[in-house]
Amino acid sequence: MLASDEPMSVEAAIEDVRRAAMGCLGCKLHALRTQVVFGVGNPRSPLVLVGQSPGEQEDQTGLPFVGPAGQLLGECLGKVGIRREQVWITNIVKCRPFERTSSARGKNRDPEPDEVEACQAWIEAELALLRPKVIVCIGAPSAQLILGRRVSVTKDRGRFYTDHRFRPAQVLAVLHPAYILRHHGEELEALRQQLVDDLESARRTTARLLKEPAPTPPAPPAPEPEAEAAPREQMSLFGDD
Ligand code: SF4
Repeated sequence: MLASDEPMSVEAAIEDVRRAAMGCLGCKLHALRTQVVFGVGNPRSPLVLVGQSPGEQEDQTGLPFVGPAGQLLGECLGKVGIRREQVWITNIVKCRPFERTSSARGKNRDPEPDEVEACQAWIEAELALLRPKVIVCIGAPSAQLILGRRVSVTKDRGRFYTDHRFRPAQVLAVLHPAYILRHHGEELEALRQQLVDDLESARRTTARLLKEPAPTPPAPPAPEPEAEAAPREQMSLFGDD
């Protein structure tokens, strides 16, 4: 058993947050969900991917990015040498927003502003514990919440932002795979390649930042050993450039 003054590991701390989120009644989406879809992956990853909200398959399985868009994301991560279990993947909204239709499955919809606002405490708690070097925002709603400003992903993708409240992480916005899948033929291939290029850029930046000294903390207390160890352990996952 840990001594009471021993710091909690990031795994234990994120599990505590996950358990708390499972019972969240913070917005109207709780009434329609099968389950809360919390982040998954490696909580010590220096690279975190943040999407918008769960769809039907995510709602059924309790896992983010497992539908067709998730498969495309996994495929593009694989092309840059990253397995999805190596990184942390989550959403800004944890319950599926959808409209009831004549189909039993309903129709996915974008989360409404009050739902995004109600849920943001969970993504803030995740990022505070994970302390990533790089945050990849998948799609505009995620980028807008993380950066705190309007973003056009088609125009602003591929660029790293440092002026936001999750500093010192660098933030990159990428196309949402669901958007890519709405295209066909050469256009689809071109957009898929943009996503691969942006993920490669995120991987290279993560690898570079892992080699740099950690920023000096503004004030005591001293850094926690558990949390400081995480990025160094991840260096081999992101390779050298
Ligand atoms: S979407 Fe977020 S705030 Fe709303 S009930 Fe689910 S976990 Fe809670």
